[in-house]
Amino acid sequence: MITASHTLTLLAAIIMFAGVATLVWLALALVARLAPRASLAMACANAMAALSLTLHMLRGMRPDALTYWTGDVAAVASFALLAAAVSAITTRRLAWKSGAIVVAAAALLLLAVPYEGDLRWQARVVNLAGAGLSLGAGLTAWRSLSASATGRRTPAPLSLPLFLIGALLLVRAFETLVHPGGTPDMRVPTEFNIAFLWTALVLTLLQNATLAFLVLMRLILRIERLLERDPLTDTLNRRAFDHALDHAHAWLGRGRGYALVMIDMDRFKQLNDTLGHAAGDAALRQMVKELQPCVREVDRFGRLGGEEFCVLLPDTDIAGAALVAERMRALVEQTPLRWLEQDWPLSASLGIAEAERGDADANTVLARADAALYRAKSQGRNVVQP
Ligand code: GH3
Ligand code: MG
Ligand code: MG
Repeated sequence: MITASHTLTLLAAIIMFAGVATLVWLALALVARLAPRASLAMACANAMAALSLTLHMLRGMRPDALTYWTGDVAAVASFALLAAAVSAITTRRLAWKSGAIVVAAAALLLLAVPYEGDLRWQARVVNLAGAGLSLGAGLTAWRSLSASATGRRTPAPLSLPLFLIGALLLVRAFETLVHPGGTPDMRVPTEFNIAFLWTALVLTLLQNATLAFLVLMRLILRIERLLERDPLTDTLNRRAFDHALDHAHAWLGRGRGYALVMIDMDRFKQLNDTLGHAAGDAALRQMVKELQPCVREVDRFGRLGGEEFCVLLPDTDIAGAALVAERMRALVEQTPLRWLEQDWPLSASLGIAEAERGDADANTVLARADAALYRAKSQGRNVVQP
């Protein structure tokens, strides 16, 4: 048997969950400073949902202007804020303008239609606006998640809860058209309202969990980046480069070769001693920036230590490595370091080596590239040596 307490309990459960979620997202935004804009938008979205449902429950018990119009506008605002949070976390832009326009348009429409009779038109405005916002946010999230080319891929189906929320609101809008016995008052214990509220509760939980997961993914990616990058030049650090090198060497047995280009700046100590350590740092950053265009997506650029770098070139032989290395040498030589109105000529010596079947491990190849680099230095520097 269905009693009124079913719908009231479900409404109270959603309100309680949205209230707790508001506090958690606020803590994430203000205390943990984790994706602060997205978290703040999520806190506001949950607060608006809780407010709107609370006002809905108070219909008839508190002033009508507050519980009807304000409650409906808060509902639309909650979907707009959810869309803004999703765009902030998936596209890194807080796209709030289209949401604000929808809220303003809905608010004006709701002002124009008097709150009298069965309130079907109001329900249509609220649910259609919410559906549009949710489906739009789902589409944005899907596109952006499936397009993210860098780092670990985040699966696009994580945007599914938004499509489901959109669909649920569409169903509610349609219900007012096809089912004359239905009612926009969610407190009335019809079977439709019970099913709707259960679904809404599950989707609210799911949407919050998905957003939390996306925020966590961003944190993980940031930590991964910190762990594997050199802070000065943003190239791979020694550990990450060694890892990539071992990986490439494991493929050697299966017929995929690789080559190494070892790079060492010439007379770097002299630069440091004359212009200071900060100038040395600037020279390192300048060189890495200049060399980036020579590095393909599949190549790995690492800093072995000090002013010594190495580029791992998969599927490349010694001739290919020589071409890349010569281009790099010419690029470094081309631009001097500009420091305190003064030009300091830069150059680098490069050693190249190709992995061979007989090489026991990657260190053997690295040692060969190092020996080649040593020869380049002894030949007077600013040259490439195999
Ligand atoms: P060569 O032409 O034979 O390579 O001479 P070099 O002076 O470049 O070679 P050496 O390896 O003797 O000197 C490297 C210097 O690099 C020593 C150290 O002070 C400096 N160095 C190492 N790491 C950094 C860094 O992160 N920043 C700066 N500014 N200097 C560094
Ligand atoms: Mg050097
Ligand atoms: Mg050195």
